[in-house]
Amino acid sequence: MNIYKQIFKVIKKYDTIVIARHIGADPDALGAQFALKNIILRLFPDKNVYAVGNPASRFKFFGNNDKIDDINTNKSLLIVVDTPDLKRIDGANPSDFEYIIKIDHHPIIDKYGNIEVIDDSACSASQLILEFVYANNIKLTKEEGELLYLGIVGDTDRFLHDYTSTRTFELVTKLLKDTGIDFTSLYKNLYHRPISEVKFEGYIYNNLTLTDNGVAYIKLTDKIMKEYGVDSAAAGNMINDLKFVDEIIVWIFFSEDVKSNLIRANIRSIGPYVNETATIFGGGGHIYASGARLKSWEDADKLIEAYDELVKNYKKLN
Ligand code: AMP
Repeated sequence: MNIYKQIFKVIKKYDTIVIARHIGADPDALGAQFALKNIILRLFPDKNVYAVGNPASRFKFFGNNDKIDDINTNKSLLIVVDTPDLKRIDGANPSDFEYIIKIDHHPIIDKYGNIEVIDDSACSASQLILEFVYANNIKLTKEEGELLYLGIVGDTDRFLHDYTSTRTFELVTKLLKDTGIDFTSLYKNLYHRPISEVKFEGYIYNNLTLTDNGVAYIKLTDKIMKEYGVDSAAAGNMINDLKFVDEIIVWIFFSEDVKSNLIRANIRSIGPYVNETATIFGGGGHIYASGARLKSWEDADKLIEAYDELVKNYKKLN
C-alpha cells in the first residue's frame, strides 16, 4: 500500500493526535504542522488534534501552538514533521506515545517512527504533506493551501534553492488551481520587516570576514543585536541572501543567544556539503544548509577552521 494511504489509515484509528515539529520553528515546519492539524480536524471533527512546540513570535500567523499537559499520550498518535533527530523534537517525547509517524525531508539521523516517510530529495516537509493530501484525494481548503504554499516558499526561498524540482512545481500548480489562493498577497506575512533589520543586514555586510579560501563569517554578539534592536533569530533569516557572491563558497552567521546561553550558527554552502561537519559540532541539517548550537566563541572559531579546511580541500578537487 502507498505509504501516505497507510498513514491515513493510522490517523483514522486514533482519537487523539499530537503533531510536533523541530525546535526553532520555521515556515516549513509550521506550515506542515498546522495544515496537517487543520486537515485532520476538518475531516474528523470529533478527534482531538494538538499542534505542539514553542510558538515563534515572528510567525504567529501560522496558528497558535497547543499544550498537551492533560492528555493521555500513551494511547495517542504522534506525528512529527520536518525533524530528523530526536533531540530537536519540540514539545513532545516520542517514548510517551503509542504510535509514531515521522514525515521528513532531511537526511536521516535517528529512526524513531513506526512509519517513517523520509524523502531528502523533497524541497520541504510541506511538499510531503501535499503528497499525503493528493495520495488520499483530500480536497484542500484555502487556508490549508496557504499554509502549505508558505511552507514551500519558506524552505525553497521562493523556489531558489536546490531540491526545488518539477515535482514541486507540479504539486504547487495543483494546489494553486484547486484552492485559488491569492498567493502573491501572502508574501507580506513572510517578508515584511522593520527597518532595524535592514540596517542590521547592512552591518553584517560591512563587517563580514572572508578567509582566503572563501569562507565568510560574522560573529553577532548580544550587544550588537541590542544596539540594532533585533532579536537573536534575525540573522538566520538573512543568511540566504549571500548565496550568489563571487568570493563566497561557505558562509556562517554566529548569533549569541544569552537567554539560552548558546551561540547559534547558520551555515550555508554552494560548494562542499556542510552537514557532516555541523553534526560533528552537535548540529546537523541539509547538505548545503545546516545549523548548530555552540557553547562558546572558542567553538565558533573551531567551526570556522573546520569549514575553512573543508573548502580548501574542496577547491583542490574542483
Ligand atoms: P537554519 O540555518 O536554522 O535555517 O538551519 C538550516 C538547516 O539546518 C535546517 O534544515 C535545520 O533543520 C538544520 N539545523 C539548524 N540548526 C540545527 C541544530 N542545532 N541541530 C541540527 N540541525 C540543525
